[in-house]
Amino acid sequence: MKIKHINVHVIKSELEVPFAFSQGWVNQRAATLIEIITNEGITGWGECFPQGLEPPEIAAAAVENCFSEILKNQNPLDTERLWFEMYNGSRDFGRKGSVMAAISGIDIALWDIAGKFYNKPVSQLLGGAFRETVQPYATGFYRIKGQGESSRLAEEALSHYEKGFRLMKIKLGFGLQDDMAVMRAIQESISGLGVTLMVDTNHAYGRRDALTLGHKLSEFDLRWYEEPVVPEDLESYAELRRSLPMAIAGGENEHGLYGFKSLFAAGAVDTAQPDIGSCGGFTSARHIVTLAQAFGVEINPHVWGSAIAQAASLQLIAALPVSHHSIFSRQPILEYDQSAHPFRRELAEDPIEIEDGLVTIPSRPGIGISVNKKTIERFKR
Ligand code: CA
Repeated sequence: MKIKHINVHVIKSELEVPFAFSQGWVNQRAATLIEIITNEGITGWGECFPQGLEPPEIAAAAVENCFSEILKNQNPLDTERLWFEMYNGSRDFGRKGSVMAAISGIDIALWDIAGKFYNKPVSQLLGGAFRETVQPYATGFYRIKGQGESSRLAEEALSHYEKGFRLMKIKLGFGLQDDMAVMRAIQESISGLGVTLMVDTNHAYGRRDALTLGHKLSEFDLRWYEEPVVPEDLESYAELRRSLPMAIAGGENEHGLYGFKSLFAAGAVDTAQPDIGSCGGFTSARHIVTLAQAFGVEINPHVWGSAIAQAASLQLIAALPVSHHSIFSRQPILEYDQSAHPFRRELAEDPIEIEDGLVTIPSRPGIGISVNKKTIERFKR
């Protein structure tokens, strides 16, 4: 089998109501989708995750200008070899950011092809599924004005609860006072309902404020405190982890085996959050998962992409060993973004559903998704 064509689809849609996280306003949703066509009629799909507010065209340019030539006429089943050819071929200008997102999207598509070729879900190729279902958590609580929205956000918590979510992640990083007003309003609205909260500041603060917020948040029994400081500041990560009672999480802005090695060696996180669409795809995720085992770090993937990234993440989650085994081990959870997204569900013929509070992990071949090409045509730019 040989790779014949690599199609890159950049799709976009303006949002009717822009929303904010601590680093800026999201005015549109976008995705860089990778379609790899083989000479044997098997097509694989992947997605490059646009980091933060990254324009999707950057990863698209990396695929088209750096990697298409490396991949043409190669055997798509050589996932490990091709990953290293792409990584070594882009080391001097890549290693992180959009170039790694480009490798990630391609790698996901190659694993999708492999699954379809062997007629197995990717989780089987990764070594087998530890679980068939996963509990989703609602990522939401974005801002429409910016500050002073605690009563609206408290109502939002109830709407997630009604959809079946028992885990929720609150976006913070809008000033310590506003953050605490939001937390108290949400806590009051869900009091007694058995909801576990996490928080994410998207590295809004420096070490001092991040510590102050962490101490104030200790009353909420959080599952984790995510991206408290900028991803480069591993010393502050380590200090927060030593000083605060809750688990520290991060890693959505880290990439590859070598990036995560630095994160783990610094003692920066309890929970690492590689995003399959930017950490380097399944191949890289597998490296990172093994390394995390050696460091005693939990892995809980970051997921903010469209239906293709969600499907790929579900396969990775299925095959994730827990880091601290017991008969009642804490299991990985699925990040399920609840912010406005005009084409996330429409991109899959069979979008993920929550039933009895759980998402069933597909056992169809590859990443287990049928891509709706009409949606791509509709949003293609
Ligand atoms: Ca995050």
